[in-house]
Amino acid sequence: MSVKHIGDLKKTECYGCSACVYSCPFGAITMERDSEGFRYPVVDEEKCTGCGKCRKICPSICPKDMSNAPEPESYAVWADDKLRMDSTSGGAFTLIARNILAQGGVVCGVVMDEKFHIFHTIATNEKEIEPMRRSKYVESDLGDMFPRIKELLEKGTKVLFTGTPCQVAGLKAYLGNKREGLIAVDLMCHGGTSPKVFERYLDETFGRENVKRFYFRTKYYGYNGTTCAVVLKDGQTYMGSGELDPFVKGSYRSLFLRKSCEDCKFASMPRQGDITIGDCWGIAKYKAELSDGRGTSLILVNNEKGRKIVEEISANTQVFEKVPLEAVTWKNRFKEHMQAHSQRDRFFEMLDYTSMHKAVKYCMENRYDVGVLGVWFGCNYGSIATYYGLMKQLQGLGLSVLMIDKPGFVGSDRELAEENHSRVFANTHFHVASAIN
Ligand SMILES: Cc1cc2nc3c(=O)[nH]c(=O)nc-3n(C[C@H](O)[C@H](O)[C@H](O)COP(=O)(O)OP(=O)(O)OC[C@H]3O[C@@H](n4cnc5c(N)ncnc54)[C@H](O)[C@@H]3O)c2cc1C
Repeated sequence: MSVKHIGDLKKTECYGCSACVYSCPFGAITMERDSEGFRYPVVDEEKCTGCGKCRKICPSICPKDMSNAPEPESYAVWADDKLRMDSTSGGAFTLIARNILAQGGVVCGVVMDEKFHIFHTIATNEKEIEPMRRSKYVESDLGDMFPRIKELLEKGTKVLFTGTPCQVAGLKAYLGNKREGLIAVDLMCHGGTSPKVFERYLDETFGRENVKRFYFRTKYYGYNGTTCAVVLKDGQTYMGSGELDPFVKGSYRSLFLRKSCEDCKFASMPRQGDITIGDCWGIAKYKAELSDGRGTSLILVNNEKGRKIVEEISANTQVFEKVPLEAVTWKNRFKEHMQAHSQRDRFFEMLDYTSMHKAVKYCMENRYDVGVLGVWFGCNYGSIATYYGLMKQLQGLGLSVLMIDKPGFVGSDRELAEENHSRVFANTHFHVASAIN
């Protein structure tokens, strides 16, 4: 791969970790949201000298760190019951965070503010780690965390960083070999959701200003339930199920996925953190007593630094059991490739002209409002432009459009037409129905 600077990296390759932003000696790079709402580096060409530093530290371009265990030891862990009920899985994060705080260190994790902005911040005490609890299944804003962590490490402060595997890879790449005092915990991760989608969902469903609290997952119906909970300012509570709620449904079916999450080199072993934490999915199949509906954490010990901490926290658990890796990996993502929903791109396109609720429904059910039957791929520019204009007008009315070939236009006739410039244009800009016999 050869790119001039980081701004030339394809969207499928950029994890949005922000390491490049703070490695640029000229301040030429900023993180900005794209039309889908994901964060990407944008390079100011006036300031860029082409020094290439951003490419040298980019975890996507550089070879993956392979120093951790290829088959780490794995543990099923329960914190106390109250902590488990306040956490996403079995409470492993808080146990690790308390350990680092007790050593005089600080914790970098993810919180959500009253405007539902989801971002990394630094906690220095138990009270400040409380809002970091519970997964927020949306891409977090790393802000200036990397240089702040560097500064803390240089002063000799221990720092626990928790984040997705690509964020951990980005931080390690940014720090280089000056990582003394860093404890990195990566999460098992199926991929990030766009903050824009989350905000649109809140605005359209409840009105963001009416929401007091949002829980991405609740154990109200048991640990395996895929239900979100929304506490409204008027006192009502809404529960969104994985079958009916558009945000939960779309998230779990990878409709809102960041492009780079489809092929993530950090999802596989060896992991990037000293420790990996996640849900211990599938543990009941191995041993039913390890799954009681309140949440079980999976902990992977990836190296000696991680082992020391895991051994220390084991004294504060009610369950701490070594389990075979195969017993806990069958349902979790350890593969680099994960298929996004087939209509993922259409979903983001629909967000530009209709509601998030409608876009989810139509993409899940493969629905359209209007079928256009005509010679919409005629080989003259007038025809192409007319149909393109028609489609745009219809979209302007909030309608989703499907282009339909005349009946009988099948087989070699259709195959030959695929090479025409008008058909190439159509396949790029229209949604084209499969052939009708
Ligand atoms: C985007 C995402 C996808 C995930 N996918 C899976 C999965 O497929 N399988 C699986 O087993 N586990 C997954 N997890 C991890 C899981 O949901 C729990 O976060 C993890 O098990 C820790 O739970 P806990 O009970 O130990 O602690 P909790 O107290 O619930 O801790 C939450 C931890 O997650 C961090 N966090 C919260 N939101 C974010 C965010 N947006 N970005 C980065 N870090 C965040 C917090 O800083 C804290 O460290 C995912 C987490 C995220 C954020």
